[in-house]
Amino acid sequence: MSIREIDEKTLDFILEASKSAHPNEFVGILRSEKNKITEILVLPGTHTSEQSAFMNIYMLPILSHACGSVHSHPSSNPNPSQNDLTFFDKFGEIHIITANPYDGDSWKAFNRRGKEVKLKVFRPEKNPTSEDEPWKKFWD
Ligand SMILES: [Zn+2]
Repeated sequence: MSIREIDEKTLDFILEASKSAHPNEFVGILRSEKNKITEILVLPGTHTSEQSAFMNIYMLPILSHACGSVHSHPSSNPNPSQNDLTFFDKFGEIHIITANPYDGDSWKAFNRRGKEVKLKVFRPEKNPTSEDEPWKKFWD
């Protein structure tokens, strides 16, 4: 099943966590329910520095519903590095990268081959209509 959406509050959490980790990288695991990202896990043993983020992927088999990863780039470039692409290919279906200044426009999602994927931001309070979907402005 492919991931199509992310909960607004989950995205907010990612952006806040990225901001507070700055100038270091924030790293976490994405969890999903059905086709929507709903939760972030920060793994024990995760080490971050200004240069790189290392995630202990040997912890992953114990996690259920893990669908991919998220990490931040303290630069303003949200595109994957060569190391990121190598990691994406080993694990998960979807990978989010946030970049400075970590606002609603400074993140991207990629599939395991490093191709950009468009995720819809799910806002539960609102009944989405075709005229009133703020994410549409961003993606269209
Ligand atoms: Zn990266």
